[in-house]
Amino acid sequence: MSVPIAAPAQHRQSGIASNALSVLNSVFGLPAFRRAQEEIVRHVTNGGNCLVLMPTGGGKSLCYQLPSLLRQGCGIVVSPLIALMRDQVAGLIEAGVKAAVLNSTLSFNEAAAVEARLLAGDLDLLYVAPERLLTPRCLAMLDRAQIALFAIDEAHCVSQWGHDFRPEYIGLSVIAERFPNVPRIALTATADELTRREIIDRLHLAAAPSFVASFDRPNIKYEIVDKQNAQAQLKNFIAERHAGDAGIVYCLSRAKVEDTAAALNKAGVPALAYHAGLDANMRARHQDHFINEDGVVIVATIAFGMGIDKPDVRFVAHLDLPKSIEAYYQETGRAGRDGKPSTAWMAYGLSDIVQQRRMIEESSGSETFKRVSIGKLEALVGLAETANCRRSRLLGYFGETPAAAKCGNCDNCLSPPQLRDGKVIAQKLLSCAYRTGQRFGAMHLIDVLVGRMTERVRQFGHHKLSVFGIGSELNEKQWRAAFRQLVAIGHLQADSDAFGALKLTETARGVLKGETEVMLREVAAGSRHRPNRTKSRRGDIAPRSADAGEAGSPALIGILRTWRSEVARKRGVPAYVVLHDSTIDGIATLRPKTLGQLREIPGIGDKKLEHYGDELLALVTAAG
Ligand code: ADP
Ligand code: ZN
Repeated sequence: MSVPIAAPAQHRQSGIASNALSVLNSVFGLPAFRRAQEEIVRHVTNGGNCLVLMPTGGGKSLCYQLPSLLRQGCGIVVSPLIALMRDQVAGLIEAGVKAAVLNSTLSFNEAAAVEARLLAGDLDLLYVAPERLLTPRCLAMLDRAQIALFAIDEAHCVSQWGHDFRPEYIGLSVIAERFPNVPRIALTATADELTRREIIDRLHLAAAPSFVASFDRPNIKYEIVDKQNAQAQLKNFIAERHAGDAGIVYCLSRAKVEDTAAALNKAGVPALAYHAGLDANMRARHQDHFINEDGVVIVATIAFGMGIDKPDVRFVAHLDLPKSIEAYYQETGRAGRDGKPSTAWMAYGLSDIVQQRRMIEESSGSETFKRVSIGKLEALVGLAETANCRRSRLLGYFGETPAAAKCGNCDNCLSPPQLRDGKVIAQKLLSCAYRTGQRFGAMHLIDVLVGRMTERVRQFGHHKLSVFGIGSELNEKQWRAAFRQLVAIGHLQADSDAFGALKLTETARGVLKGETEVMLREVAAGSRHRPNRTKSRRGDIAPRSADAGEAGSPALIGILRTWRSEVARKRGVPAYVVLHDSTIDGIATLRPKTLGQLREIPGIGDKKLEHYGDELLALVTAAG
């Protein structure tokens, strides 16, 4: 590291704070810390242990990168994700930090060279895979090196109850035992109480403070729409709102992934498939392409995304319902890490609830597992059906009290759904399910309600029932919404044994007797979900695409992006490692004329200025 920043551990706090700020600025080109970062950096730089809970994109990396630079010795970062290690190290090297990786992708000689650098004190940061760290050889080497700190990234991987359990993480308790005087910082974006306790226990952090940042992602706009023709809706959504943007589309099955990717390509959207059925090479190729190129959409099963650090994913779209709010939040959290406006969009329908429920019922899990899973699914359906602010609901689920009851940046805040008394509708619907023997799914029940004489209606004699044709005041789409809401409220239940047959629950009786109020959201007869272009609470315009609302000229942005792609390709690093989108926007807006002005733009540190400063100024000048 060329910047003289090693500070003795007993440094006074104010000294640390100003040192930290100056490194943040000179190395990373950033003007200020985000809220929790400063305190964490100070604590760890002072030699303290801690647990850091921060949402994806919250800025966890700086919490250990800066103390590693500020303390004597090398910071050891344990990370389970090889792609992430590689990209982080590439970014650090770009910024002039002496960083390296130690994992199974290195040859013997390459690894030996890294080890020699560590022992010679020639590294600021070393990223190590957990299984590698635990080898006797590696531990013995660490004994001999000067270590600034241990950072355990994705620390929830120690949790046997979590969704990302990695057996090798269990062994990491050795760090506390063998290096008791080296600060340990554990980081995760998964916040539930059980996981938190396991991390503290396994990594011996009982005496250490937990820093919990807000899980709010204010730049992400949440939107959940009524699923009709999901693929067509997705194509519209991309064309109208995110043309040319990078995004992730999640589907439940491999077949649907393939199909959706093909449909997008046909519609002119560059899309790649990613699922466990593709061979490892092709998966890696698609992932690299997505990370390195601008504006690629990846269509994936949930296998994709863990460890994807791409900052400029502008949208995450769900064509199927995830399993839980935790999963939804983790997946949508991959949008907008760079803090720019991004969209979390989901199309969902009754069949999703039925499908997820069936998957749970048919799984080999214990009764407890099934009960917990169904509870989680119901919480997510509640989020999808709420007429209130989605963000408040999400944050509330994670135990956080949001600053305001209405966020101003979700579909429900931007165009509040009307609620109306749905008692009669609910009664008609429940009676219809009851009178037909609770053996049919929504489609058939709707046929009966609206009085449509289908083959099945005739076959079962349902046209002779009193409920036949009693629901002509709503059309099919409105009835579908009513069914969904009654399932979400819990008066109806999808029976997984009988292919989605809808059954009444205990609470339905109160509705039928007229004792229980039912409020339903109004669904206009012909409404299609209209995108909102309203001002968000931050005062900026909701995005049409990545560049909407920016003052920089599109032409200059295009020139800078082309230049960035070339540089990235030449250097073999992802484009965002060269410059973030926000930095490109900053240049296009401010049009700097001098190196000094360029250095003021967030994302331009000393090394980037040295490497690219002249070229960038020349591009700005040439663009007039
Ligand atoms: P996490 O690991 O928590 O998901 P990262 O550490 O990758 O998040 O940071 C997410 C994004 O936020 C990165 O693009 C990073 O450059 C940016 N970032 C982090 N801290 C700051 C800051 N203080 N100012 C501006 N940008 C920041
Ligand atoms: Zn809201």
